[in-house]
Amino acid sequence: MSNENASPVTVIGLGLMGRALAGAFLKAGHPTTVWNRTSVKADQLVAAGAHLAPTLADALQASPLTIICVTDYQAVYKLLDANEPSLRGTTLINLTSGDSAQAREAAGWAEQHGAHYLDGAIMAIPSTIGTPDAVILHSGPHSDFHAHKATLEALGTVEHLGPDHGLASLYDTAGLTMMWSVLNAWLHGTALLRTAGIDAATFAPFAQQIATGVAEWLPGYATQIDNDSFPAEVSTLETDAHTMTHLIEESEAAGINTELPRLIKAMADRAIAAGHGSDQYPVLIKEFTKPSHNRQGQR
Ligand code: NAP
Repeated sequence: MSNENASPVTVIGLGLMGRALAGAFLKAGHPTTVWNRTSVKADQLVAAGAHLAPTLADALQASPLTIICVTDYQAVYKLLDANEPSLRGTTLINLTSGDSAQAREAAGWAEQHGAHYLDGAIMAIPSTIGTPDAVILHSGPHSDFHAHKATLEALGTVEHLGPDHGLASLYDTAGLTMMWSVLNAWLHGTALLRTAGIDAATFAPFAQQIATGVAEWLPGYATQIDNDSFPAEVSTLETDAHTMTHLIEESEAAGINTELPRLIKAMADRAIAAGHGSDQYPVLIKEFTKPSHNRQGQR
């Protein structure tokens, strides 16, 4: 049911995520206007009280705040380019996934068309939207975020990272590298144990404990990185490199994939060759900060 004190909001894009976003606004009592290329996807939201705008221009004009959440930035431009006049004076928050360059470019484009613009990244799945577990990052002008923070809070835990429009996407990609790396490490460990008849479910709680333990090292390691000083308080990189050799040999002997341990060892070997063998593991930041080169020596 809509609440007279709740600010109106428009949601463009009613895929899995857009429907969850619009549903959360409705649940929090915001008068909610929706629009989607395929209008049938609005049916349930309309039944729950949303207003389906007849055109995209009407949708943009219906609320002081519009959230757009579609597949990619190409789709964003495809939709909005044809409706630029309706953007003047509105606040547009783009929760479509993309990279930081796309976010900064879109901010320039929106500014040219007289819109206030925030770029965002959704660190959540649709079923958690509307709960504190859904973290949604925003970047762009502070004043634009604060003008709409109370409305955005209907979606979950909302954060503002700073005025650089690219920051939300950068955090998003930094989160993705964590996620894929942790999952790959777990899959590699699972593959190793399966060769001895240990199933994934047996390893999972042990792996969880390791991931939690390693996560606890991060603040201390971050201090070493920020101070550019890597005293070996626990072990040296040289010592760690020996265990990496065991990892490769064990994987080879088990007849499983060795790409991940070889990558881990290759980076450590380069840091050791550069004279960092007696430093602690986070000294590898020096390797991660350099551009990579493929076999032809190109970036
Ligand atoms: P989805 O279910 O595939 O929906 C895609 C949406 O984009 C639909 O509304 C679709 O319209 C629209 N669209 C795509 N191309 C279009 C075009 N050329 N013109 C007009 N509309 C177009 O995807 P989703 O899961 O909602 O994801 C939307 C965004 O949220 C993505 O950037 C995704 O990375 C991000 N995200 C999703 C999740 C998740 O768990 N789902 C989590 C975090 C971030 P039609 O309905 O007409 O096809």
